[in-house]
Amino acid sequence: MSAKDEMRAMLAQLMGTSEADTAPKVRFSDRSVCRPFLLACCPHEILDSTRMDIGKCRKVHDFAAKADYEKANAEKDCDYESDAMYELRAFIRDIDRRIDNAKKDLVETQEELSTDVEVKANMVHDIGEKIGKKLAEAENQGAEGNVEESLKMMEEVEKLKEEKRKAEMDYRNSMPASTYQQQKLRVCEICSAYLGIHDNDRRLADHFGGKLHLGFIKLRDKLAALEKLTEAKAEKRRVEREENRGRTSPERSDRSDRDRERDRDRRNRGGSNRDNDRRDRDQRRRSRSRSRSRNDREERRNSHRSSRDSRRNSRERSRTSETRGSQGRTAATEE
Ligand SMILES: [Zn+2]
Ligand SMILES: [Zn+2]
Repeated sequence: MSAKDEMRAMLAQLMGTSEADTAPKVRFSDRSVCRPFLLACCPHEILDSTRMDIGKCRKVHDFAAKADYEKANAEKDCDYESDAMYELRAFIRDIDRRIDNAKKDLVETQEELSTDVEVKANMVHDIGEKIGKKLAEAENQGAEGNVEESLKMMEEVEKLKEEKRKAEMDYRNSMPASTYQQQKLRVCEICSAYLGIHDNDRRLADHFGGKLHLGFIKLRDKLAALEKLTEAKAEKRRVEREENRGRTSPERSDRSDRDRERDRDRRNRGGSNRDNDRRDRDQRRRSRSRSRSRNDREERRNSHRSSRDSRRNSRERSRTSETRGSQGRTAATEE
């Protein structure tokens, strides 16, 4: 992207379609618009110009449309998360498959180590990974002017290097020199890149602080967040549905029975209008047994269901929902 294009994109992102001079090619709600892009998680965008550049996204990426989406979504939930999640999940599954295949390839092509040596090799790899991450982080902090923080991290890197030297020695002593010389590869569990046991700290830092690896961390984190959000939304919808239907659920009617019981006690203590009370009580008793049989029906409905049953039940349901409606009103006037 040229500097001018970048500027225009930034402007569009700030303003949305109404004020930016770059009119959107499409409305954000159009199916041709990339929903992962709207939610800042399109792999094509995030892995752009990395070793794993997967080319241009087939769907539309439009910054003005994205700004429109953000505005609209703030006012009323557009609910695009699950769409973005499914697309992102498919991509991540693909990568996970690639990681598995790469691991299998390594098992087939690399000389097998004894368990004991394998443990030692993994130790070197693990410490190398820590060094790479820490070093990348120290450089980042330094670049942002947090000199003290950066120096503290470099001290930790020095300690880790010492640990790594010992681990390497241990590994080297467990095999003939010629075998030790061979590069022992491992697959990065995040981004599928190959990491060598003899990779130096610089290369490790470039990997763990690099755009590809960090991009994959971002995509994986985003997927986890989207999964959590969609799940929470689905759960919320389920609860709402339940509540709408809920007047027939056993828990709810138990509770309203208790409420009615309490109301009756309260009124009896007051001692007035006894005749009315008795009438209410009888009515309540009738409605209680009604709600009990309704619960039985509910249970039956849940446990087994032939199509005839469900037809009959739906007839019953519409009948009980009528009585429920009038009961609801009585309950309200009682309070
Ligand atoms: Zn896209
Ligand atoms: Zn990686």
